[in-house]
Amino acid sequence: MATEHRHENGARPVTVVGAGILGLWQALVLARAGHSVRLLDASAKPFAESASRLAGAMLAPGCESDGAPEIRSFGEQGLAHWRAIYPRLVNAGSLVVAAPRDQAEATRFARATAPPETLDAEGVAVLEPALAGRFGTAFYFPDEAHMATPDAMAFLLDAASAAGADIALGERWDSNASTPGIVIDCRGFAAKDRLPDLRGVRGERVLIRTAELHLARPVRLLHPRHPLYVVPWGDDRFLVGATVLESEDAGPISVRSALELLGAAYALHPAFGEAEILETGAGIRPAFPDNLPRVEIRNDGRQILVNGAYRHGFLLAPVLAHAVAGYLANQTPHPLVRLS
Ligand SMILES: Cc1cc2nc3c(=O)[nH]c(=O)nc-3n(C[C@H](O)[C@H](O)[C@H](O)COP(=O)(O)OP(=O)(O)OC[C@H]3O[C@@H](n4cnc5c(N)ncnc54)[C@H](O)[C@@H]3O)c2cc1C
Repeated sequence: MATEHRHENGARPVTVVGAGILGLWQALVLARAGHSVRLLDASAKPFAESASRLAGAMLAPGCESDGAPEIRSFGEQGLAHWRAIYPRLVNAGSLVVAAPRDQAEATRFARATAPPETLDAEGVAVLEPALAGRFGTAFYFPDEAHMATPDAMAFLLDAASAAGADIALGERWDSNASTPGIVIDCRGFAAKDRLPDLRGVRGERVLIRTAELHLARPVRLLHPRHPLYVVPWGDDRFLVGATVLESEDAGPISVRSALELLGAAYALHPAFGEAEILETGAGIRPAFPDNLPRVEIRNDGRQILVNGAYRHGFLLAPVLAHAVAGYLANQTPHPLVRLS
């Protein structure tokens, strides 16, 4: 029988494994709730081996409800949690545009997501003057938000540390070793050794820079194959993402994907043709068969696995962290928590 390690206040120490977006939120929420938390990550350089660092970091529960209605209600909760803690969140909504040849896709998208506002060309010009005259129909989701990924992750790491979490970077956890207290496994796709139904979904993106153009909010360009978008990250940087490929290959971006992504930016505005390419990247999104995340409680609560965030790690990480905090406090049930 495993030995119980408890602190003077009776609480078992918590080890959060993985400082991607899920682990960062777990460490922050649990440290703020008074748990004794240790957050460890195999990478000595913060975030270097995470899929999270590649994300566009849009908090778009409405746009993302396309094909996944559950994402809207959980995502709205996630957005509220971000708003409560992150002062540099940009609350400017999301704009969705379609090229004339993709009008059928626009009709389908509107039916699936029920956008709060449909804009004509004049409405687009008011919101994003740089796009004036370029799109005749657009959808606007005014309550959505976005952030610059590196800045947001650095903020969470600092906030977790300030809340008392002990941060250990460059420390690889061995899933066969015994760890005292409660382990919260947030290793992303690396946790496939313990989660056989986890699959990897490859995503590629390109970071570019130009001072020729200003966008106030993420602009999504409807496309039959990929959810293409351009997210303004500030300092003239734009994140162009993202492919969604059923592949577990984390190798460099392909020429085809680079052409598709940069072609989308260029279709949005030809001024992107003059932008500098700062960085390309590809990562593996961890996903379960239903593409919804889950918290799995094992060994009477000593092992907790949080995974499967798929395309919604930033949106849903706070919801998963509060679900775990509720379970640890008084076994509060939550639709994303599964006892096994
Ligand atoms: C191109 C792209 C764009 C995206 N855009 C968005 C978006 O706009 N909005 C959104 O919400 N989501 C987005 N996502 C999805 C989001 O990035 C993922 O859902 C999220 O990154 C999953 O986070 P995670 O914390 O589970 O895993 P990860 O970020 O991969 O973190 C896992 C961590 O565990 C560590 N680790 C692994 N093994 C060990 C070990 N043995 N010991 C210690 N540490 C270990 C790794 O070093 C890593 O840091 C995007 C993803 C991609 C690829």
